[in-house]
Amino acid sequence: MDEIAADPTHPRYASLLMRHRLEQGAKKGMLADSALIAHGRGEAFDYLIGERTLPAAEQAARQALALLLRAERPVLSINGNVAALAADDMLRLGAALNCPIEVNIFYRTPERMKAILSHLEERADALHLDVEVLGHAPDAVIPGLKGPRAKCHRQGILESDAILVPLEDGDRCKALVAMGKDVLVIDLNPLSRSAQQASVTVVDELSRALANMLSLLNTGEPIAVDPDYDHSVVLNEVVQTIVQGFVEQ
Ligand code: ATP
Repeated sequence: MDEIAADPTHPRYASLLMRHRLEQGAKKGMLADSALIAHGRGEAFDYLIGERTLPAAEQAARQALALLLRAERPVLSINGNVAALAADDMLRLGAALNCPIEVNIFYRTPERMKAILSHLEERADALHLDVEVLGHAPDAVIPGLKGPRAKCHRQGILESDAILVPLEDGDRCKALVAMGKDVLVIDLNPLSRSAQQASVTVVDELSRALANMLSLLNTGEPIAVDPDYDHSVVLNEVVQTIVQGFVEQ
């Protein structure tokens, strides 16, 4: 890690640390060629929301967690960027919810799958966490999707009733919603197709959103599904924050 990225007092520390993690992920062969472009789009939106967790994101994170806790078969989906940026917290969340994590990537190659699966195995060992990690032997397909990106595990994504899909692309999000699942997205872009189509969208930076969900779980307080939760209202709140931010400056 370079000097700036190693200094937690640097104002861009969090952002530089994430970039560093992506560089490491790329070196390990975990990332798609377009991974840094997707990250850059996220960074741009993070500036627009002030690089902080908005109240709307807190509300969404609580609802997402409540739906995962209520689910009979929750699953956490993980792609290359998520594995590089937040493997530890995804594993911690899987352990806390006692649910599997499934590696599900858009550009699926045996090499990338192997690199991501090995990274997760390594991190789970280092953290002494016992979490079921799927993705190695897909035996089903997500209906409505074509090609290798449709592959999934029957015991994981296919039969899940609630799925956390951080940084998902729009097509897959739509296909998962069409299966009748609660689809919980983490995405900094409130205008992305995934953010719009999900059941709940946490518009927050991935590592902040996961840390927030884990600390909510650690409080031990009951986390109930809010029956009045309105996805469009919460999403619009974020868009309003972005628009008003421009006017105020
Ligand atoms: P869609 O298909 O849903 O319209 P997209 O084509 O932008 O969106 P991708 O290219 O897969 O989908 O981009 C991934 C999304 O992840 C982007 O919307 C980006 O804002 C978001 N993103 C990238 N990095 C992060 C991060 N660290 N935290 C949260 N969101 C992120």
